[in-house]
Amino acid sequence: MENGTPHTPTSPTIKPSDARSWVSCARRVWLDNRGDFEAEPTKDEFEKLVIELGLAHEKAVLDRLSQELEVHTATSPEHTQRLMDEGVEVIYQAKLIDSENGFEGYPDFLIRHESGEYQPADAKLSLTDDKKEIQAQLGLYRCILGTKLPAITFLGGRSTGEISDEANTITNQFVTEMRELLASDSEPLVRYSHSKCRACPYYSHCKTTFEEKEELSLLYGIWGRAAIGLEAAGIETISELANTDPATIPDIPYLKGFEKKNRAVLQARSYLTGEIHQTATVTLPDGHWVHFDIEDNPLTGSGDKHVYLWGFLVPEYQNSDFEYVWTDDKSEDKKGWLGFLAQIEQYREQYPNLIIAHYSQHERYTIRDYAKRYGMEENTTVEYLLGDESPLFDMRKPVLESLVLPLQGYGLKDICKHKDLVNFQWQDASSGSQWSVVQFNRYLYETDPTLKQSLKTDILGYNRDDVIATRRLEEWLRAF
Ligand code: SF4
Repeated sequence: MENGTPHTPTSPTIKPSDARSWVSCARRVWLDNRGDFEAEPTKDEFEKLVIELGLAHEKAVLDRLSQELEVHTATSPEHTQRLMDEGVEVIYQAKLIDSENGFEGYPDFLIRHESGEYQPADAKLSLTDDKKEIQAQLGLYRCILGTKLPAITFLGGRSTGEISDEANTITNQFVTEMRELLASDSEPLVRYSHSKCRACPYYSHCKTTFEEKEELSLLYGIWGRAAIGLEAAGIETISELANTDPATIPDIPYLKGFEKKNRAVLQARSYLTGEIHQTATVTLPDGHWVHFDIEDNPLTGSGDKHVYLWGFLVPEYQNSDFEYVWTDDKSEDKKGWLGFLAQIEQYREQYPNLIIAHYSQHERYTIRDYAKRYGMEENTTVEYLLGDESPLFDMRKPVLESLVLPLQGYGLKDICKHKDLVNFQWQDASSGSQWSVVQFNRYLYETDPTLKQSLKTDILGYNRDDVIATRRLEEWLRAF
């Protein structure tokens, strides 16, 4: 294997588990290894749920292996080596050290092959093992063990995968980049990413630096390459961009044409002043509006999401006008889908000029996926929903086409919760779409009927607030 910058006795060791942070952000993996402060423990309930499910999955794999093979738990690198020397069938929580190359790995399992060699194996909740981080992690286990045997992945949905030499390139890249990164005494320069950074344990640390620098990628729509292009054109901060005539900005990646450049300049001004800029007339379709939002559970272990709640807000748009189709678990998936289609037919009959308003394309894509899942692409209701005369209306479109807002993300909650914009607050301030997934998973496993009902009431309340929010957004947009 190519190792790039050589390992020295003082370099930090590289752990295969670093692959997750490495894939996400170079600074994150540097801070994990060389930062002199602790990452903030996650407060994200969804992340905690994923960790819990991951541990439960690992335990299930351990139980399965224990039924057929003799499993020994390793307590140290030396103990792992002793167990390997003894040739035990399975070593659980193995600890591998390669001091020469500076690697330190903790595969969930080492499984003895008939050749006498050991295969590293990890339990992964993921349904596929072609993800970069899994390939690099398992590839490095193979490298530490010096084996040509494939590594094994026990995936979600009870399938098993193998990782062989095809992962060598990514493993080499991982090791080479890690060596270079960890050899540096200073944090790598990176760009802000609204989706990644907000979920990162180093958010508070990095945000301050980005803000002090007036880093361009703090602006919505200015991704990494656009920021590099702007800097090359001499525009290095948000203030400089705000004071630039958009017509003078050269074409750069992701920022071509006057409209995009003008939006970038207005976004910079909006960031600094909190002002709203209108770039075009806000156009909303006429008709009988029904607001629509779904809640789905991606953690089904089967690859198919389960929509447990199809929610609607109908005229007169009060709390009591919330209607829904609910299913208790994945076994009722089709029942929920058919219930949704029946609900649409009812609205179609009731409101001759029906507009089904939702925010973002998620609802449309989900309908398309469900139609495919149940072979119903030619169903008349599906054709009505997805055809040329579709009643579906994505409210994000007029927002993005006509307005520049003082926001870093244009999600429904970003716009609705902002006190100078829609200013609609969800009854449960801590709720969010992932919050709903967490509550639904609790609902699935709750055995106390009273608590179960209470969880369902909370989830319904959250979804009702979602559709009330899109109604408030509609009213707010109409005021333009
Ligand atoms: S907050 Fe963002 S930039 Fe900082 S380490 Fe995390 S992902 Fe990287």
